[in-house]
Amino acid sequence: VPRVQVLSAADVERALTRMAHEIVERNRGVEGVVLLGLQGGGVPLAERLGALLAEVRDGGRVPVGTVDVALYRDDIGLRPVQPEAATTVPVDLDGAVVVLVDDVLFTGRTVRAALAALGDLGRPKAVQLAVLVDRGHRELPIRPDFVGKNLPTRRDEEVQAGLDGVVIGEVEPA
Ligand code: 5GP
Ligand code: MG
Repeated sequence: VPRVQVLSAADVERALTRMAHEIVERNRGVEGVVLLGLQGGGVPLAERLGALLAEVRDGGRVPVGTVDVALYRDDIGLRPVQPEAATTVPVDLDGAVVVLVDDVLFTGRTVRAALAALGDLGRPKAVQLAVLVDRGHRELPIRPDFVGKNLPTRRDEEVQAGLDGVVIGEVEPA
C-alpha cells in the first residue's frame, strides 16, 4: 500500500504557527478567544495551538478545552459508539469566540455535531473552525476558517494527521 508523507513534524509546526497568526489577525488579538479541541485528534492540536498563540501574544493565555461530540452525531446507531471522552470547558462560552480545532475535516458531520454540542454549552459570539488537514468530500455546508493543508483525497484513502506529521495512504483491505 503506497503511503506518502505530506508534511513532516516541522511542516506541521510551521502550519500551526501560521494558523496561530491567522487567528490573531482575524480576531484582532485573542481577547475572548477560546480553543476547543475535538476528541480525540483535535485535542493535542488545540493544546499546541494554544501554546503557539501564547508565544505570538507574548504570554497572553488562551483557554483551551475539549469537546466529545459522540452523543451529538447524526450517525449514532449506524456505527459503534466510542467510549466517552472528556468535554472540558475552561471558561464561560457566552459571548466568547470559540475556535473548534480538529485534525482532519472530511464530510463535516463531526463539526455539525460539535456545533450541536456547543448549543448545550453556551452561546458564543462566534464560532470558527481550525483544521490541520481539509481532505474534501463535504456532505454539509461547512468550511474551515483556518487550514494547515488542503489535501485532495479519494474517499477510500485515509489521512494520518498529528503533531508528528501528515501521511496519506490507502486503507488496508479488511
Ligand atoms: P467528518 O466528520 O468530517 O466526516 O470527519 C472528520 C472526523 O473524522 C475528524 O474528527 C477526524 O478525526 C476523523 N477523520 C475523517 N477522515 C479522516 C482521515 O482520513 N484520517 C483521520 N486521522 N481522521 C479522519
Ligand atoms: Mg476525530
